[in-house]
Amino acid sequence: MTLSGAARKETSVTDGAAASTDRPALLLAWYDRHRRRLPWRPPAGERTDPYRVWLSEIMLQQTGVKTVGPYFEKFLARWPDVAALAGASLDDVLRMWAGLGYYSRARNLHACAVAVAREHGGAFPDTEEGLRALPGIGPYTAAAIAAIAFDRRTMPVDGNIERVVSRLFAVEEPLPQAKPVIQQLAASLLGPSRAGDEKSRAGDSAQALMDLGASICTPKKPACSLCPLNEDCMARAQGTQETFPRKLAKKTGELRRGAAFVVTRGDELLVRTRPEKGLLGGMTEVPGSEWRAGQDDKAALKQAPELKGIAPWHRKAGVVTHVFTHFPLELAIYTSSVPARTRAPEGMRWVPVATLPGEALPNVMRKVVAHGLGE
Ligand code: SF4
Repeated sequence: MTLSGAARKETSVTDGAAASTDRPALLLAWYDRHRRRLPWRPPAGERTDPYRVWLSEIMLQQTGVKTVGPYFEKFLARWPDVAALAGASLDDVLRMWAGLGYYSRARNLHACAVAVAREHGGAFPDTEEGLRALPGIGPYTAAAIAAIAFDRRTMPVDGNIERVVSRLFAVEEPLPQAKPVIQQLAASLLGPSRAGDEKSRAGDSAQALMDLGASICTPKKPACSLCPLNEDCMARAQGTQETFPRKLAKKTGELRRGAAFVVTRGDELLVRTRPEKGLLGGMTEVPGSEWRAGQDDKAALKQAPELKGIAPWHRKAGVVTHVFTHFPLELAIYTSSVPARTRAPEGMRWVPVATLPGEALPNVMRKVVAHGLGE
């Protein structure tokens, strides 16, 4: 662990001695005045609904607040509580989720709702341990729900909090190795617990740091003059704010290539469902080749679906690109059409183009269809 002198001092502060400044109190006072209004957040002082906290935290994994807002409202209107969501079909949940990406989250969301309804009588467990035993809830999400919904004294550390803490304490160690030390330093920012009570304003402390990272301690040009912790920030004192958090160079996966086939029958499009397991499991797609590194166009085109009476394939200009977590993808798009009443090959089906918005089409397939059906 490589920490600057002051950060080392702070680490020992968290180990027992008295804190030199009252950062937790400054943070909470700032939060009381400047908290963000978010669809899943109740007004100050009102009870937090664990269902809303859980739903928002699952949606916010790998997705920004702006994108999540409308999805959250849509889900809540349709399934106002965990019992309603548990009673929904997985297909409906996947359909509503389409566009949010990382679809295993939607499957786990449904599985988790079923587990809470069946095994916990519809009430979320109120400890990190209990929450972690549920599908789709890892250490960060368990800590976030425990703190925000139940005021358990724990600090969930997301990207915003990592940034604020690494600047505040000038943590020199790069991510991801720095995670444990950042976690420890972040926990020193929790407000004091009430005597004899494990609970505190932990949820507000965590949300204060999240808000600070989102609105003031931003990746570029942090607004340090507005920051409640600016007098005690090491990176600010050094003028090195934007260099934190330190990061190791990212490795991106090898480019994979493939082809996607956009076949129309009048106003209908040929689609299939991806296998349940694996990337984009259970989602809808147009037929396509395998996605492989170094695959050439000829090899990809050979994997086109076979249909009676199909017109020659037309290769659309350009390619559709998409970046998954572990690899970038480049797809050549081929279009064709078949006569009315042509049967779909086994495992495929025709769907009216007009109903595509209601299909569980992942983002990459939305791009493919838009390119294939566009002029
Ligand atoms: S003073 Fe600036 S760099 Fe330091 S925590 Fe506040 S906003 Fe971030």
